[in-house]
Amino acid sequence: MTQQYKWLSTVAQMKLLAAELIRAAESMGGDDEESHDIELVLAVAPAGTVQDDDGVWNAKPILTVRLDEYPEEGVYPVDPYDPTGGRVDDPTPPASAQDDAKDERQAGACPRCDGSGEITVMSDNSPDAHDVDVCCDHCQGSGAAVDAAKFLAAALSGEKYRHMQLWAEYRNFHRSLCARFGYGHDEIHFRRDLVSLEEAIASKVAAPAAGDARLPPLNIEAAAKAMAECMDYPWAHMPEQGRATMREHAQTVIRAASQQQEG
Ligand SMILES: [Zn+2]
Repeated sequence: MTQQYKWLSTVAQMKLLAAELIRAAESMGGDDEESHDIELVLAVAPAGTVQDDDGVWNAKPILTVRLDEYPEEGVYPVDPYDPTGGRVDDPTPPASAQDDAKDERQAGACPRCDGSGEITVMSDNSPDAHDVDVCCDHCQGSGAAVDAAKFLAAALSGEKYRHMQLWAEYRNFHRSLCARFGYGHDEIHFRRDLVSLEEAIASKVAAPAAGDARLPPLNIEAAAKAMAECMDYPWAHMPEQGRATMREHAQTVIRAASQQQEG
């Protein structure tokens, strides 16, 4: 029987889950701009497949977030029925009425700006930089975790899609270049030997060009001789005037032939 993975949820619970997924993504991948393209895997872990820090296996199916490239780094468990329950290293704030109220407000709050919709950043990189409040780049100012999750997901898929598209276009271009210039294309490591590909292309392009420059006089001389032979006129006994005429005729014939080839 196929196990069905579904979780009944309320709007509030779903927002909690979204906030926890953001934490998971930032925890496994990173929370700075450079981390945006890091590839993560969101997966369902059936019951009894994930051990927590205390060695206890998950009793029910849960969600896990891990790095695509480094599975050995482990997983970030997220129980949709208890999103924050798996987090044991979260510092517990001292209990007070004020904090309780704050926690409640923060349940669906954007984890980056704590629901304020604004974050404090340095004005610039100069020595006299100062703190400035700007619109939160996660929730785009709404302060809601669900918005932060939405914008994060959109940013990730957009970036990744663009990256993959560029990569594929570039690889195809590389492949066609290699095919055209008889150079070995490596599907995986094609970016590494661009310099030698460039040299290979340069040598291929330079060779016929140099030949073209040399070819006309050589060919014309040979053609003039061949033409003289066809006309039963021994080249060796032909005066220079006659040779020049033969060269002219040969050139005319070759030019006509090459024009025909081009057109
Ligand atoms: Zn925010």
